[in-house]
Amino acid sequence: MSWPQRVCTELAAATASAQVRRCCRQVQLAVLLRLAGQTYRCGAHLVIEAELSAAAAATARAALLAVPPAARPQRITLRPTGNTDRVLQITEPGTGRLATWTGLLETALRADGGLPRFVVSASRCCTVAAWQAAFLAAGTLSRPARGSELSVACPTTATALALTGLARRLPATPGNPGDSENVVPHATVRPPGRRMLPTGPAAELAAVSGDEEITALLTRIGAPATAADWATARRTAHARRTAPMLSGACSQNRQRQHRAATDTIAKLQTALEVLDGLGVTLPQPLTDAAQLRLAHPALSLEQLAQIADPPTTKDTIAGRLRRLLALAGSHTNNSTAPQ
Ligand SMILES: [Zn+2]
Repeated sequence: MSWPQRVCTELAAATASAQVRRCCRQVQLAVLLRLAGQTYRCGAHLVIEAELSAAAAATARAALLAVPPAARPQRITLRPTGNTDRVLQITEPGTGRLATWTGLLETALRADGGLPRFVVSASRCCTVAAWQAAFLAAGTLSRPARGSELSVACPTTATALALTGLARRLPATPGNPGDSENVVPHATVRPPGRRMLPTGPAAELAAVSGDEEITALLTRIGAPATAADWATARRTAHARRTAPMLSGACSQNRQRQHRAATDTIAKLQTALEVLDGLGVTLPQPLTDAAQLRLAHPALSLEQLAQIADPPTTKDTIAGRLRRLLALAGSHTNNSTAPQ
């Protein structure tokens, strides 16, 4: 099952709950029909038609049961068009009343063609319902190895803008490890590329990017299990991608360290021979540091500092080695200077 399908399956289960309020059912149906449906006249009849996935159709079916009798149309058909898709068709009598109840008539009359006003200004429970329906109708989620984006294809810019506003108001789910009050899912409007809606090409996308924000959004709209699995898969993909780079960087560091140690050892050996030849008595800490370096050529300065007696810091060891080399250098210059 693809990642978007997993989200849809979990959302469909969440929206099937008998606890869902009627206000939320109304919002779910309004958003499903706005994003995946169209309204047209067929002779004297007004027809509402929507192409829905199996999960979206299950949500639509539950939402239709909540339509008040006065707005309930008489003829509703939901017929399969493939393995997973369904076409929902609602015809007269009663279609006009349902189109009014779901705000479809209002948006058809508005120039911007956004979401109905009662959805845009919905209470917080309904912001969840709106995003559930939006994802079920036209949502997608990137594969963890490919990127970090969740988006909903929208028929108009106003619809995408409305969804971005609703995303900011989604209530956090306290006590859920995938969610935090501090992470606000920040959706933006962006060009749709080749994304399609059942009714034609999308005009814009309402998109959320960033692992934390996507996880928070999915958790808040009722898909916490998929959110957790997706976040884990993202971390695994990230670790796989960065592991070769890290091991490459580690081995480069080790090589650099080894070259520096070999270089220092060669200089130390020469310096000690020079100082010994001149009969110079070295301070004990300098002799100890030199002996440590010569005895353990493979260890880093930090490791040398740890095994020193008494233990010290790598800066101290490096400083003592530098002083010893400088001392040998100054004696060499003095002995070769013209008398
Ligand atoms: Zn509600």
